[in-house]
Amino acid sequence: MKKYNKYNIKNNKKISNLLLRNYVIATLIMFLIFLVFFFGTMAMWITVYMPINNLISAENSKLVAENIIKDDYRDIDVSEILKVKGWIEVVDTDFNVIYTSGNPKEKRNKYTKDEFYKKIINANNDIFTNDKYIYNIAYNSKKDFNLIVYLPNDNYFNSSIKKPKVGVRNFFGIAITLYLIIFILIMIIYTKITSRNLTMPLKELMRGVKSIHKGDYSTRIQLKSQNEFGQLRDAFNGMAEKIEEERELKEKSEETKRRLIMDISHDLKNPLASIRGYADLLVKNPDISKENEIKYLNIIEHNSIRVNDLITDLFELSKFESIDFNLALKRIDICEFLREVIADYIPSMDEKNIEYNFYIPNNSIYITIDPKHIHRAISNLITNSIKYNGEGIKLNISVEDLEGCVLLAVEDNGIGIPKELELDIFNPFVRVDSSRNSKSGGTGLGLAITKTIIEKHGGKIVLESDKNQGCKFIITLNK
Ligand code: ATP
Ligand code: MG
Repeated sequence: MKKYNKYNIKNNKKISNLLLRNYVIATLIMFLIFLVFFFGTMAMWITVYMPINNLISAENSKLVAENIIKDDYRDIDVSEILKVKGWIEVVDTDFNVIYTSGNPKEKRNKYTKDEFYKKIINANNDIFTNDKYIYNIAYNSKKDFNLIVYLPNDNYFNSSIKKPKVGVRNFFGIAITLYLIIFILIMIIYTKITSRNLTMPLKELMRGVKSIHKGDYSTRIQLKSQNEFGQLRDAFNGMAEKIEEERELKEKSEETKRRLIMDISHDLKNPLASIRGYADLLVKNPDISKENEIKYLNIIEHNSIRVNDLITDLFELSKFESIDFNLALKRIDICEFLREVIADYIPSMDEKNIEYNFYIPNNSIYITIDPKHIHRAISNLITNSIKYNGEGIKLNISVEDLEGCVLLAVEDNGIGIPKELELDIFNPFVRVDSSRNSKSGGTGLGLAITKTIIEKHGGKIVLESDKNQGCKFIITLNK
């Protein structure tokens, strides 16, 4: 499960940075659009409004004969001239038109001497204008020919090619208005995006809070933000995770409690039913034989002991859970202590021909424990080995002195406990085979009590076992 405990305090991506970023982007876009508009307007203005005279007077204008004249008149670049619907004529020294290109408004093959000189004089004075066209002349002295470039005159050019309907003032008015409209549009988009960046995370957070409110604790907030919203997301997800964990724990403990109560009532029901049945039998049959009377009374006694054991064990187990439970700790020599515990069981072991071996160091190992409770814990392990196994098994009890702790092991080579119960066997009322145990009378609380005692001492107990492989209980106690 993902942990949300880190709130990314280090990450200093803030909401203010987000706002600044959006602002800078919007400003840049506006500036770019301004540039495009500015140059676009200029370009349009030049192409639409630039008078043809201006085109001619531009430096190296390709509309001026002098600039384009070549020794071979066929190489003359007339492209610009054709674009503005102009044409050229090449005239030799006899005033014959020897070459034309473009679409002449006035076609002729020859000029008279007068006509031609008039043309030259006019062209030299200025760019000569007549109604329909303007022209300029250049002379190639090397090859002895003149080049005349004819261009439609301004009025003609404007009316025949393109006469803008909008005046210059209006043109710029429209351009500025358009720019302002785009400016306002961008401002609106900027505001929308910025508010989306703020409202989206809030909506997502609201969705999470609502889900939690409805009881769906598995809900998590998915936000990519690294800013304060990101921190809020982590805090929220961390909280949801914690609530979910606590709820699972609560459900688990309630389930354990329910199961415990069921187990207790089940384990009490059988012996109590038996006591009641046999007591009833004795009350209703006063003439019962002495032999049967003793038999029934034995059963009643056996079952009442069972009930008593169960209640005593339960009481003990719940005692450990109470807040005012305290261990009566003493510093004792664990080796000596263990020898005394084992001594009590030697007769029962001999009775069952158990081959016992004790590996207990001769030197003293001092640890701090509550002797009464540890006695109970270890006794339960030894009793189990004797009780649940047949005759002639081997039982080893050992003590190992380690740095900071002591290992106690109780190991037998009997019927063992199935591997899958290695952990659960320490839970109350868990038994390998209840039919087998009802005979031997165990309550199924012994190992639970042992484990609780060891854990109260800050130690731990583990089982290494398998079916028919024997059991090895290893206890670790801190010194
Ligand atoms: P109580 O100890 O309260 O009299 P119990 O002995 O049934 O009851 P535990 O001591 O918790 O309860 O043992 C649980 C079960 O584990 C036993 O019922 C038994 O089936 C199994 N068990 C415990 N120790 C051994 C062992 N050494 N060999 C085989 N089975 C064992
Ligand atoms: Mg037991």
